[in-house]
Amino acid sequence: MEPVQDAKSYKQEFMKKWTPYFKKRYGFFFIISIISLVMPFIKINGNHIFLLSFDKKQLQLLGVAFDMQEFYLMPFLLIMLFMFIFFLTTLGGRVWCGWSCPQTIFRVIYRDFIEGWLLGMHSRRNKQKKVDSSKVENKVKKSIAVLIWTLLAFVAASNFMWYFVPPEDFFAYITNPAEHKVLIGFVVMITLFLVYDVVWLAEDFCIYICPYARIQSVMYDNNTIMEIYDYKRGGAIYDPSGAKIADKPAEGDCVGCMACVNVCPTHIDIRKGLQLECINCLECADACAPVMASLGKENLIKWTSYEAMETGKTKIFRFRILAYIAILTLAFTALLLLGSKKEHMLLNINRSSELYAIKDAGVVENHYKFLFQNTDSVDHTYYFEVVGRDDIKISRPTEPFKLSSGSKVYKVVVLYTDKALANNDRKDTPIPIKIRAFAVDDKQKIVVERDSVFFYPSAEVLKEKANR
Ligand code: SF4
Ligand code: SF4
Repeated sequence: MEPVQDAKSYKQEFMKKWTPYFKKRYGFFFIISIISLVMPFIKINGNHIFLLSFDKKQLQLLGVAFDMQEFYLMPFLLIMLFMFIFFLTTLGGRVWCGWSCPQTIFRVIYRDFIEGWLLGMHSRRNKQKKVDSSKVENKVKKSIAVLIWTLLAFVAASNFMWYFVPPEDFFAYITNPAEHKVLIGFVVMITLFLVYDVVWLAEDFCIYICPYARIQSVMYDNNTIMEIYDYKRGGAIYDPSGAKIADKPAEGDCVGCMACVNVCPTHIDIRKGLQLECINCLECADACAPVMASLGKENLIKWTSYEAMETGKTKIFRFRILAYIAILTLAFTALLLLGSKKEHMLLNINRSSELYAIKDAGVVENHYKFLFQNTDSVDHTYYFEVVGRDDIKISRPTEPFKLSSGSKVYKVVVLYTDKALANNDRKDTPIPIKIRAFAVDDKQKIVVERDSVFFYPSAEVLKEKANR
């Protein structure tokens, strides 16, 4: 087709207003990277925003610490994670891959920034051109690029570990590597993997290894936003079976310049339609826009949905999206409700094997083993009481005890009574009791209640003991 008359002024006007996607994506990458690096250092009420500590057997989430016994929250977190992935993919296709995935970010840093911009090994616009690796100059540049990336990969590996070993421990541990070989081993292995993955495996990771790439297409529908070549305007380059019929369509606006193909990091041709390999990087849209603008025409490659291509509008709130939102809301509400019931200390009560002991003057003792754990971020002093029973008293421990943050202790507990709590001739009587344990210094917030039993002997046993 002939270019429109005022193509030059159209292009000038277009270039003034145009912000390529890659600039927006790079800005987003920068923000995500800063957040990932800084987040492990931020503490709320002494806890991290996210920390899964195998060392402390603890999950810290948004400043609240949950211990192993409280991992019932995990299924809700996993449901939310999966639902969010389904929601995001149905809505925006592989938007995660193009805008947030660490693999994409690392490849942009290594390929476009280090190899391309810093060392001038290749152009960002042509990712199909192979660097001549037989040249000494290129060998040296490649070595420098790998070295720079290795240093950055070490930072990335350390950053990843900070979500499992908090930075305050991490930096102390790495100064003493002999005693923390497992941690050092993890950091070294992740660093080596990142070097191999980003330098040599490259986008093959996205195409052949990443499981998300395999499953995402089943979540697509007609309203899913993705990278689409407008074949009606551009013209057909491939037939419906996927076989190439022309480099440039017989009819249509596509000029066959190959800018969209050359720039593609996964080496595909978007003009063939939706493909598993497409990581939604939008580089092809950026490549086509100025080509078309110089002809005074609209971009042939758009970030849109098939529905919008047909009708001009994407239906955002459709059944699947609403269903995902509903499940996400339910899981989030359940998480909030359960999280708000969080106890700031743990108490487990076990009775000893003997039911009771009868002392002089008819005093009856019951023996227990209490496990106290301080799950708060500060130290506390703990004690307990038998709720609503003046006739059952504590004989041991005699006074409150201190527990540092995160630590636990077993206490032998002796309860006794000098009153006649039951009068059954033959059978021992189990008397339900409620134990309330609390932090003496924060009784309002740190308090838990557990049910237990106090056994009172039969009259026959009491008499027998008295006659001995
Ligand atoms: S076709 Fe290639 S360049 Fe275009 S979005 Fe997909 S991966 Fe990126
Ligand atoms: S960049 Fe645009 S005009 Fe060039 S080949 Fe691709 S679709 Fe056609």
